[in-house]
Amino acid sequence: MERFLQRCRQDRIRITPQREAIYRVVKDAHEHPYAQRVYRKVKPRFRSISFDTVNRTLELFVRMGLLKTVEGSGQPKRFDADLGSHSHFRCTRCNTIFDFSYGPYERLTVPRKISTRHSVRSVSVVIEGICERCSRRKPAPKEGVHESVRDMRNQQKRRKIGK
Ligand SMILES: [Zn+2]
Ligand SMILES: [Zn+2]
Repeated sequence: MERFLQRCRQDRIRITPQREAIYRVVKDAHEHPYAQRVYRKVKPRFRSISFDTVNRTLELFVRMGLLKTVEGSGQPKRFDADLGSHSHFRCTRCNTIFDFSYGPYERLTVPRKISTRHSVRSVSVVIEGICERCSRRKPAPKEGVHESVRDMRNQQKRRKIGK
């Protein structure tokens, strides 16, 4: 929270209870929340706050360097209050993003053909896959198909017996 107050004073951004709450939600979440999620969390406390205000505040915090966005392909932005270098694992089923740190990833060098032509702002690694919880939960869709085939057979059997 200290960093938040400091940055606001530096940039002459007015510190309001709403702004504080929005920052705190992202900071405490560890789940890299969407703007929508942050909005739902602060709404009960600030009944008159609009989604637009929350969204604009999050964007402001990113510009101030208080938050980072997690890169994702074509999905709504996810916000991260952990500015230290770390990598992400994203579950493609439940969309949860986990933080992890791995030495070799934190020390990645940018290839010269990129660094000489473009100006690089950040380098990050995102691993995608099915998380531990999701792979344990729910039978695979294939099993569901087997179930219904079995049900159909049972129904046919029952019909035959009925005859
Ligand atoms: Zn998952
Ligand atoms: Zn993160």
